[in-house]
Formats: sequence, C-alpha cells, structure tokens
Amino acid sequence: MSFDTLLFGTAGVPNATQRKNSPVDGVQKIHELGLDCMQLEFAHGVRMKEEVSSALRKVSYELNVPLTSHGPYYINLNAREQDKIDSSVERIIQTAKISDLCGAESMTFHAAFYMKDSPYDVFDLVEKSMNVIEERLSRLDIEIELRPELTGKTSQFGSLEELISLTKSVMSCKPCLDFSHLFARTGEVNDYDGFMETLTRVERELGRAALDEMHIHISGISSNSKGDLKHLNLDQSKFNWRDLLKALKDKSCKGYVICNSPNLEKDAVMLKEFFGTLQ
Ligand SMILES: [Zn+2]
Repeated sequence: MSFDTLLFGTAGVPNATQRKNSPVDGVQKIHELGLDCMQLEFAHGVRMKEEVSSALRKVSYELNVPLTSHGPYYINLNAREQDKIDSSVERIIQTAKISDLCGAESMTFHAAFYMKDSPYDVFDLVEKSMNVIEERLSRLDIEIELRPELTGKTSQFGSLEELISLTKSVMSCKPCLDFSHLFARTGEVNDYDGFMETLTRVERELGRAALDEMHIHISGISSNSKGDLKHLNLDQSKFNWRDLLKALKDKSCKGYVICNSPNLEKDAVMLKEFFGTLQ
C-alpha cells in the first residue's frame, strides 16, 4: 500500500459502536467519524468466522478504511519451553492468515520477553523464529508486513535498536513504532527534537521507505519505576503528542497512526484534527 499522508484510526472497534463485538460495524463507525483506518485487535485470541473476515474485507474496501492488525498478547518467542515457542509462532501465523483474509497488509505483535536472558541471545532467537514465520507465510502465498512492536517495558524485547536490526535482517519485517512506549521505555524522547532525532535515525538506518509506510501507535501513557504501564487518554498524560505530530509532519511521514488511548476515537479524532492544522 502506498500512502499520501498519515491515516488515523483506532486500536479496535470505536467505543461509540453499538455492537462493540462487530468489527464490520466498527469500520462503518470509523467512516462516520471521519477517521481513516482501523486496527483489528486479536489480543485475546485469533478467531474470526470466515463470513466476518470476508464482510470486513468488503466494507473496508468499499468505505476506503484500510485495516491493520495486532496479534495476541501471549506470544513469547523466547519462552522457556519449546512448545510455547512453537505455539507463539503458530499464533503469529494464524494472525497473519486472518489479517490477510480481512485485507490487512500490516500486523503488529509483542515478540518476546527477555526472561532475564541476554538481549543478544533473545535477538538471535527472535530472528530465527521470524525467518521461520516468513518462510511459512511465503509458502502459503501470504504477503503481509510483520511488525514487532516497540514495547514499553524494559522486560520486553522490542527496543528501537532491536527493531532496526531485525528489520535489516528479516525481509518482511518492519518496525511498529509505538512512540508512547518509546517514551515509557526510555524516560525520554518526548519533545520535538527527540522525535526528529528518532525519525532521522529510522530514515538513516532503514531508508526513506521506512517513513513513507509507517505503522505507528500513539496513546497517553504513564509508567512507574517498576516499568508498569498504564494507557491513559492523551489529555491525562505527559506524552507530548503535539510535538510528535509536528515532527511527523515535518518529516513528511506517511502510513498508519493507530490510537490506543482508552477513549480510542476521541483521541484519534483529536490527533487527526491537530495534524490537519499543521502547515
Ligand atoms: Zn501492542
């Protein structure tokens, strides 16, 4: 997919949707709200009836609301037991299959926990699994961007550096840049210069294409010293979303911006409206 600009949408069906368990209704609500895209959340399992996925594909195409997806939380490519690694691989493949049926071209997931292992060892293991996943998806003829998420807890694999390295070594891999997580994880990167620096680095390491087809997450966030995260609405959080949008604008970034504040569409609309005022 090629983009003209940033597309704004919600992580899951908007709260104002009457049937909150209907992603098809969710896409219609996104359209009504004047938003641009929607992320399918498979946080608690990857199940969807075939008629739902084909209906989703249709409504997404007709209303011009492209979809992204988010895999289950219980994925850990660095699990202690091999069978847990295997089932994590299966969950990612299952998410890819259903996303593909729905017409989504970009999927994100939390790849692994360090489990107190050395980040280098964890990287090798994640890389190995990603190659297996890529190979199996290509045999299934499924073309989808695999985007490990920039995670917010220091116990989770998914720093900016790790995602950049993984993108360089695995062909279908790209980063899902969660800027709220980046802020929580590092305790910094929360002003215009910090955001510009991050984007410049991504561009330098991964090429201009990385800014032309982004998959971004934004929400309000708070974190404590134990690394516990809480997603908040933007106006309750210190996260400097205005500066982030200015930096994204000045770098002419394009792609998906998925809002996962608790109030979902309210913040998504606020982000889109503010972005629209920038010159
Ligand atoms: Zn996530």
